Amino acid sequence: MTQELQRRRVLVIDDNESIHGDFKKTLGSRSPTQRLAAATTALFGQPATAVIDSLAFEIESALQGEEGLRMVEAAVRAGQPYALAFVDMRMPPGWDGVETIQHLWQADPELQVVICTAYSDYPWQRIIETLGVTDRLLILRKPFDPIEVCQLATALSEKWKLKRQASLKLAELEGMVHERTAELRRLALLDKLTGLPNRAFVHNVLKTCISRAASSDFKFAVLFLDFDRFKIVNDSLGHPVGDQLLVGVAERLRGLFGRANIDAIPDSGCMAARLGGDEFVIVQQGINSVQDAIDLAQRLLPHLGSVYRLNNIEVHTTASIGIATSDLDYHRAEDILRDADSAMYRAKSQGKARYALFSPDMHKDAVNRLTLEGDLRRAVQREELRLYYQPVVSLVDARLLGFEALVRWQHPERGLVPPNDFIPLAEETGLIIDIGNWVIREAARQFADWTRRLPDTSSIEVNVNCSRKQLADPSLITQINQALTQTGLAPQRLNLEITESILMEQHQTVMQVLQQIRSLGLRVHMDDFGTGYSSLNCLHALPVNVLKIDRSFVHNVSQRRDYAAVINAIITLAHNLGMEVIAEGVETADQVAMLSGLDCDQAQGYFFAKPMPAFEAEAFLLARQAHTPVPFPGVPQT
Ligand code: C2E
Ligand code: MG
Ligand code: MG
Repeated sequence: MTQELQRRRVLVIDDNESIHGDFKKTLGSRSPTQRLAAATTALFGQPATAVIDSLAFEIESALQGEEGLRMVEAAVRAGQPYALAFVDMRMPPGWDGVETIQHLWQADPELQVVICTAYSDYPWQRIIETLGVTDRLLILRKPFDPIEVCQLATALSEKWKLKRQASLKLAELEGMVHERTAELRRLALLDKLTGLPNRAFVHNVLKTCISRAASSDFKFAVLFLDFDRFKIVNDSLGHPVGDQLLVGVAERLRGLFGRANIDAIPDSGCMAARLGGDEFVIVQQGINSVQDAIDLAQRLLPHLGSVYRLNNIEVHTTASIGIATSDLDYHRAEDILRDADSAMYRAKSQGKARYALFSPDMHKDAVNRLTLEGDLRRAVQREELRLYYQPVVSLVDARLLGFEALVRWQHPERGLVPPNDFIPLAEETGLIIDIGNWVIREAARQFADWTRRLPDTSSIEVNVNCSRKQLADPSLITQINQALTQTGLAPQRLNLEITESILMEQHQTVMQVLQQIRSLGLRVHMDDFGTGYSSLNCLHALPVNVLKIDRSFVHNVSQRRDYAAVINAIITLAHNLGMEVIAEGVETADQVAMLSGLDCDQAQGYFFAKPMPAFEAEAFLLARQAHTPVPFPGVPQT
């Protein structure tokens, strides 16, 4: 650039060939700046400046305006523009000076021009009218004074250089601004963790899809993905592993659909995005019918559901997919997203690892959920909650050891609502604290009552489920204490069941609360063991008295030897750590025989009895006492 700016190209356009020679003589050979410097020194007695000293002009010439224009255009194309052109006013037979200048400026707006004219040529007023008022144009009267030519050439080319430097700088700045804006745009539209497009970009894409669908027969689908075991992975293996899983999911999606370009709204194919948490969305454009979306979901399920290897840990997760298509005439992006989300909920509630299509009745379900929430808020005050009791039996001598208290909701219109239909909602909304406290109070009351009224029931224990939010509630210990003192139930008869995934977090506050609970005299059961990601060698560090093996393990124990081997290992380890083991969900005599053969201490399940209301549990208790111990088939008796 410096060279280009120091060596100024000057174009002379004049039909009189001899003029070209004059210019070359004046500006070329001996440095014109030296001549100017000599003149300046002669006039003002000052030495020439370094800038002027180093200037050199390259003179080129054209005889006609058209030829000059071609040279200017070529110079611009080559990136070697002229700084300055001297243009004669009269150049028959071609364009005159004014017309030539008009063309030159179209080709190179930065070109400085000196128009050379005799007095009689063109009035200044007419020149301005045609070319406008501009600082790019000066007038030089004929005949020329060489010093004047030097002065003009130097001054104008210096000005040209400064302007050009400024505009190069400006272009550089503009480039930086452009880059930075693009960067910010990318950040605003991309998910930081996975690099997939985010919710904002999906919104833009859906808006475009919706307007295309409104004005043509274009159809599209939204597939809403949620990962069924993400929460367990996050809770039991920690957030960094949870994050890795999300990145792994994103990589698989990119593998299928390629990297999304967020610089433009895509108008075909599939695009995957992450909305947040473990929620991902796929926008499938240009489908022929809903079957295309179903085909895609069926391809995705096994692809996303196979094992993820994260830092030497193998993690299993499955996806639940909700599908909504443009067949329902959406006007807003959030509506189709909401419906795909509702369908995803349906897929989850139908057993996970599947897809469900949105249908308008699901919208009703969403509204129902909201109504349910309002009803649930009132359920505790209106005394609509009930406890059902399921027996827990010794596999050593078939004795009844206690009951698990399981909550139900006696809804005035819906009837008896099972816990899986309202506990998750209660957890989400925090209502679980009130519900959980009620469960503790009611179980303590019932067992204290049985102890008073029924003979030989003073050793029967009650197991109560306790949720994550309850453990974080600072008033939990007080609530338990109050329930025990008000009812007179001995603390040794109350056990708290806490699911494996909560315990595996080993959150310091949870551990402290558990220690406090144990120092009150209560025992802690680890519920649903085998559904989280417990590492067996963490067990010894947990303040747990009893391990409850999840029913998914028990289910297969009599069919599959490898399950029996796993249960055997769990039982042996638990015993070595001084823990007892309860098998959940025991349904058959086979399972009972197998479990007792493996040295399992206790069992609970439909094989013995389903959860039952208090009055039936009371009858069960009385019957058991009348024939203690009642033999269960397959259970050894003392
Ligand atoms: P959980 O604590 O693991 O309770 C055992 C669940 O397995 C109960 O379901 C029980 O009815 C069911 N079950 C027992 N034996 C068998 C069997 O042989 N076969 C099969 N298929 N199922 C069996 P339920 O009562 O529907 O409770 C479901 C879950 O709801 C409970 O699982 C527990 O996590 C939660 N829950 C229940 N009551 C409460 C409560 O008061 N507080 C909290 N936080 N959660 C509760
Ligand atoms: Mg339980
Ligand atoms: Mg359980």
